[in-house]
Amino acid sequence: MSIYQEKAKECKCCGKHVPLPTVLKEYNGIMVCPTTFANITEYTRIWNTVGSRPSGSIRKHFSEYVQQIVENNIDKK
Ligand SMILES: [Zn+2]
Repeated sequence: MSIYQEKAKECKCCGKHVPLPTVLKEYNGIMVCPTTFANITEYTRIWNTVGSRPSGSIRKHFSEYVQQIVENNIDKK
């Protein structure tokens, strides 16, 4: 197993998509792949714009994993 494969396991969404990421990003102490990181950033941006949990028509574009991470980390007003 290569070092990239080992690192990729730290992102819970990975293992399903190929090729695996070669670089991981950190979000609040959670290691995620760049795709998940970008989606977390975007979902958080929308959440803050809307001011509450985005509607289902927006949520469907984001994985359960991304939604869960944002739910747990966002500053709910
Ligand atoms: Zn991933």
